[in-house]
Amino acid sequence: MTSIHIKNAFVATMDKQKHVYPSGEVLIEDDHIVEVGKKVKPPRSPEYTLDAENKVVMPGFINAHTHLQQYFRGVYELMGDFFETNLPLEGYRREEQMDTLGAASCAELIYGGCTTSMLVYTYPDGWAKAVNEAGNRCIIAGDIEHVDLEKLSVGVFEYLPDKRDKAIKRATDLYTNWHGKAAGRITTIMCPKAPDMAEPEVYHKCKDFAEKHDLRMTTHLSQSMREYRQVMKLYGKTPPQHLYDLGVMDEKLSGAHLTYATEKDIQLVQKTGMAILHCHAVENPLNMWIDRGIPVGFGTDDYFHNMNDLLREVRQGQMTRARLVGGADSMINDSRRTARPSFYDLLERATRGGAEALGIADKVGSLEPGKKADIITINMLNPYLTPTREPLTSVLLYANPGDIDNVICDGKWLKKDGEMQTIDIKKALTTAQKTCDAIIDNFFEEHLDQKKIWQCEFPY
Ligand SMILES: [Zn+2]
Repeated sequence: MTSIHIKNAFVATMDKQKHVYPSGEVLIEDDHIVEVGKKVKPPRSPEYTLDAENKVVMPGFINAHTHLQQYFRGVYELMGDFFETNLPLEGYRREEQMDTLGAASCAELIYGGCTTSMLVYTYPDGWAKAVNEAGNRCIIAGDIEHVDLEKLSVGVFEYLPDKRDKAIKRATDLYTNWHGKAAGRITTIMCPKAPDMAEPEVYHKCKDFAEKHDLRMTTHLSQSMREYRQVMKLYGKTPPQHLYDLGVMDEKLSGAHLTYATEKDIQLVQKTGMAILHCHAVENPLNMWIDRGIPVGFGTDDYFHNMNDLLREVRQGQMTRARLVGGADSMINDSRRTARPSFYDLLERATRGGAEALGIADKVGSLEPGKKADIITINMLNPYLTPTREPLTSVLLYANPGDIDNVICDGKWLKKDGEMQTIDIKKALTTAQKTCDAIIDNFFEEHLDQKKIWQCEFPY
């Protein structure tokens, strides 16, 4: 049996009772937490004692909805049109490239304290291999969409049966090969990508497979006006109403975004018990969802996986929204004390709330005896974090991934005293850079119009 004794820490358990121990301890044995409190009873000689003076100790972040789009960082944010550039660019990825990309992606998640991620990716098998080696926890989906991405760039939806069948096979093979593997760190989930990108038959097949194997489902839902219009055109209803009528909306479904959901759509969400995965859309009425008891998790979604920044973006987004729609239910009312969501609420959503939305709160999301030992420590001895009277508020407002100096997942160190333990970070990042350059060069060679735009903007 291995044991880690963390002491002298500011411990934020993020449990339902909101227990915080300003000078507290945590005891880990093997892969789980044994004790949390002011004092614990460590074995006579624990394998490791972490003196966490000046550190906040809390559960690892739950990144509840994300992809591996960071491969196109430096293009994604710059090129004019998502559908003309970014979606077609995604079509240039190849399955075998995960051999050089996976470690870099795991490094980003681990470095930023995401011990658990729910990740949707076209080539999930290679990603599962990377997670297996890196030591983080991941719920993985092979996303199933079957439109011609090149035609979609000019607004034409053409559904491709061959593409659909291959994607379904990747998703079901993923379950067969990886579900419950890596000591349970890897689990799988079914993901028809979105109601405009996957036909009803795909949703039904996914639902059947999920029920047969006791899996959950996730999908993008009411993410864009393009999706809204296409679903309206095909089925004469809103995307949530469409899924409700297909019989796939229930408490085992989580939907990302819901940005264009109507009041009636949200009533369906409430009625069925499905969860919402909120990313960073300013328009989303986060407080309203939370007030209605809808499980809500937070996800980084696209080209960065920095939960600290995401939390600040969510807060800023809600403030902007409040200014637009009025202050009554807002973050800009008179009292900072009553402003919502509170700083603590946001951290809670990024930990236990995310776990609840993904149906894994019995295992992770808070520091409680019996739960998995997925823990991060935040070094507060930085000039922008100390002095402070309330460390959690400062973590929310000012902390960065570099301040997260220890990341423990399943009782094992993935980052220790600031150093990555399971990934050769220089090798991972430099090889990923070469692969991404090759993908983007290939895309530009075959899309000379896009290359021309790029060269005008960035002649160096
Ligand atoms: Zn997404």
